[in-house]
Amino acid sequence: MLKVQSIWEADNNIRDFAGVTPILRSQALHSDLGIELLLKAENFQTTNSFKIRGASNCIIKQLKNTPNLQGVVTASSGNHGQAVAYVANRLGIPASIIMPETAPRAKVKAVSRWGANVEFCGTTSQQRLARSKEVALEKGYLEIPPYDHYDVIAGQGTIGKEILEQVPDVDIVMVPIGGGGLLSGISTLIKNLRPNVQLIGVEPENSNSMSVSVESGRITQLEKTHSAADGLLSLKPGSLTFPLVKKYVDQIMLVKESEIIDAIITCIKYFKTIPEPSGAVTTAAALKGDWGKDKKVVAVVSGGNFDMDKLPGFLRP
Ligand SMILES: *Cc1c(COP(=O)(O)O)cnc(C)c1O
Repeated sequence: MLKVQSIWEADNNIRDFAGVTPILRSQALHSDLGIELLLKAENFQTTNSFKIRGASNCIIKQLKNTPNLQGVVTASSGNHGQAVAYVANRLGIPASIIMPETAPRAKVKAVSRWGANVEFCGTTSQQRLARSKEVALEKGYLEIPPYDHYDVIAGQGTIGKEILEQVPDVDIVMVPIGGGGLLSGISTLIKNLRPNVQLIGVEPENSNSMSVSVESGRITQLEKTHSAADGLLSLKPGSLTFPLVKKYVDQIMLVKESEIIDAIITCIKYFKTIPEPSGAVTTAAALKGDWGKDKKVVAVVSGGNFDMDKLPGFLRP
C-alpha cells in the first residue's frame, strides 16, 4: 500500500514543476445557496490540470536511480500526455505520446507544443498500451501510466497536503474519479493525518466503474462509458487505486450530465473560473448534497482544458 512518507517525498520532487494552486471562495454563493464551498483550483496548475504532479514525481524519482534515462512514453493522450510531454521537455529528455488515429487535432497540438513525438496507433486503448510497452522496451524509455502506479498516486496526493494547509478546518473533500489515482492519493494523505475529514469521490452516472466495483467488492469492468467528462471515462478502476479507495473513501456520489453543465455555469457565475467537465463533477455533487451551513466543503477542480470554441454550445445544448 501507499505510504504517507511517499507523498511527502513527492512533495519535494515536484516543486520545480507544480505550483501550489489557489483555494477559491465565494461569499455570494455561501449567502445564496447556504453552503460553504471552496474550490481547489487545479485548472490553474502547470499545463492546467493536476496530472503534472504525478508525472513529474514519477520521472524525477526515476532520474535519481537512472540519471541517463533515454526517454519517457505514455499511451494516454489527454491531460496526462500533456503533463508528461511538458516535464520531459523541461528536463531535456525525449517523450513519445501514443495517440489513437482518431485523436482530435487540439490534443495532438497540445502535446506537440512541448516537443513530444506523437505516434498514432490503432483506435483502442489496448492497442495503444501494447505499443507503449513496445516503445519502452525498444528504446529503453520509462513508461508513465496515468494512474495505476504508486509514484503517480503519491504525486497526486500532494494536493491533500495543500488542502490541509490551506483549509485547516475542512470538513469534506470531494474528488473526481477516473482511474482513481487522484482520489486514492488525496485520501491516503488526508485520512492518515485527519481521519475525521470526509472523503467523497464523484463519478458521472454513465461512467461509474468505481462505485460498481466498490459495491460488488471487486474490480468490475463496464461494457462502455459515456460522459462529457472525458477524463473520467475509465472502464475499470486500477489494481492499485481500487484497494486505496475501498480503504479510505467514505462515499461515492454520481452526477448527471445536466448537473455537470449547471456546475460549470455556477463556477463561472460565482467563482469566475472555468473548469473542464471532468473538473466540474465535484461542484455538481457539492451543489446537490445537504451538508449543513457550517460545513466547509472543498471541491477539487481537477483541470481546465476544454475546447473553449465549444463552450457556448456545450452550456446551451
Ligand atoms: C485524469 C483526470 C481526472 C481523473 O483522475 P484519475 O487519477 O484517473 O482518477 C479527473 N479530472 C481531470 C481533469 C483529469 O485530467
